[in-house]
Amino acid sequence: MPEFFEFFDFFDPTPEEQNVVLVGAATLREAEKLIEACEYCNPEGAEIPFDNVLDRITGSDPSVTDYILESVPRCPKCRRPGSGKDFDQPR
Ligand SMILES: [Zn+2]
Repeated sequence: MPEFFEFFDFFDPTPEEQNVVLVGAATLREAEKLIEACEYCNPEGAEIPFDNVLDRITGSDPSVTDYILESVPRCPKCRRPGSGKDFDQPR
């Protein structure tokens, strides 16, 4: 009988240079203001990761920064909770 283990991301060793930023509710609200639509209500246009919005707001370096979200961001248009990916932004 095989044993199954589930390994999640937090088992990965975090490189020392990795910058983990906790994103609080206030920052999430700021980020939502920059979102126009999500992958559900604008499948054509939604192609910018939510991380990218957070990079702009926090001024973090996207190549070394991971975000821990305090709550799930919601699309301001359809109020769907986002996956954290693929929100559409104004250009
Ligand atoms: Zn939406």
